Amino acid sequence: MDLTERFRLAATAVRNAGAIVITAGAGMGVDSGLPDFRGEFGFWNAYPMYERLGISFAGAANPAHFDRDPAFAWGFYGHRTNLYRETIPHAGFHLLLDWCSRFGLDSFVVTSNVDGQFQKAGFSDSNILEVHGSIHYLQCTGPCSSAIWENDEAIPVDSATMRAGHIPRCIHCVATARPNILMFGDWSWISDRTERQERCFDEFAARLRDRSVVVIEMGAGTAIPTIRHTSEQLGRRIGATVIRINPREGEIAPPHISIPCGALEGLRGIAVLLAK
Ligand SMILES: [Zn+2]
Repeated sequence: MDLTERFRLAATAVRNAGAIVITAGAGMGVDSGLPDFRGEFGFWNAYPMYERLGISFAGAANPAHFDRDPAFAWGFYGHRTNLYRETIPHAGFHLLLDWCSRFGLDSFVVTSNVDGQFQKAGFSDSNILEVHGSIHYLQCTGPCSSAIWENDEAIPVDSATMRAGHIPRCIHCVATARPNILMFGDWSWISDRTERQERCFDEFAARLRDRSVVVIEMGAGTAIPTIRHTSEQLGRRIGATVIRINPREGEIAPPHISIPCGALEGLRGIAVLLAK
């Protein structure tokens, strides 16, 4: 089956749907120019400094650095925070928003990305589940309490040393603050915000029974399979049609629809047919 035929099947599924669940992994950000850290080299291509230091993604994304060397820890997370603040979500986000309003679709976003790009593109914060948290929120490293607050601090980072010139502090004690995201080997992530979002999603999903539901999944790989499982579960439990857009790991069995290309290309391909 060629791509056009796959786009046609996907367009029909979207047009016939009453509700849409948008699921996204790291590949979603690639068309906005964001690195997806794919493999050790993907991370080092984005951050050559860490290759010189011999530090992997899992090594950098480790909460232990906040205790040992906060300027180093915040070098990595401050750089990413600044990058996500500056990034403009690609046109695919707006195509999805357009379909929701044009076809009157109830919608919910489930993403493993911590970059806040769906909110930035205009999706309602109350209909988003960020399974690994958000880099735009902070918590105490202790933690001394379960407080989670918005990160509105400027964090300059020296790109030669990848060290931060400012360290955010806990609002309740003197400890270093850290992003409220799940890291590798992380025992102190406060999951309350994500759990609240999970309850909203469960309530949304409970309302979907007996309705025609389409899931559009983008850029979710097999390395961290949470997002793929979410899509497949909706396919099994409520009979949703899953449209899996992924250039390298796009396989999914019929009646679901596999679209083996990047997120933006896939969404544009479907949009052309929805415009007719
Ligand atoms: Zn504290």
